[in-house]
Amino acid sequence: MSDPISRRAVLTGTVPALAMAGVLAGTPLAALADAAAAEGPLSEGFKDGEYVLPPLPYAYDALEPSIDADTMHLHHDKHHKAYVDGLNKTIKALADAAVDANPALLSGLEEDLSFNAGGHLLHTIFWSIMAPASAGGGGEPGGALADAITKDFGSVEAFRTRFSKVAAGVKGSGWAILSYEPVGDRLLVTQAKQHDMQLVAGATPLLPLDVWEHAYYLKYHNIRADYVKAWWNVVNWAAVEKALVAARGH
Ligand code: FE
Repeated sequence: MSDPISRRAVLTGTVPALAMAGVLAGTPLAALADAAAAEGPLSEGFKDGEYVLPPLPYAYDALEPSIDADTMHLHHDKHHKAYVDGLNKTIKALADAAVDANPALLSGLEEDLSFNAGGHLLHTIFWSIMAPASAGGGGEPGGALADAITKDFGSVEAFRTRFSKVAAGVKGSGWAILSYEPVGDRLLVTQAKQHDMQLVAGATPLLPLDVWEHAYYLKYHNIRADYVKAWWNVVNWAAVEKALVAARGH
């Protein structure tokens, strides 16, 4: 088994939000996050002491017709930004809270922290694992990723079917997520409610699919399955494989 908290895994998992926020200040995890801060898609989400909205790695209309430009503008510029702003605001409120603050106040702020940090990190990964066809989007996974998918799901097609069903079955707002779980050295497909519930602790999200209505309603209305089907055409498998290799350490 590779080190479950490898240097690069820090940047592709949920550790950096806490470490960079100072929650883990002075701990080895904070040092790992600092050391890794210049690597990986998540490094785009934190600059000069605060969380920032990373620019899309392609034009707003680059994923058409699978995902329309209007949706990308709203999703990235409004929804994702709101999580970034909410996360910075929550971090500040937690820092300002007196040590003897009302436990209910702290509990509420911690819920805000989890929700907004999850939203910021998952969206940051989400943009990075999509690409237009001209930049390698769509097609089939290969290399180490295809091998791992075949080992854990039987075949790429079986994985795609499973993942699509998991996405279709999310009740309300949430995500379908392919993650790497380091203890069993395996890939998992799970649902996340909102951004932060039902996550697998210690697992690194590799391929998150946003199935909140804001991700598809303008174009696909209530037909989420059509959005999921079209989304496969813009998956950047090379980026997903890179994330797997980083999380796994080989
Ligand atoms: Fe979203």
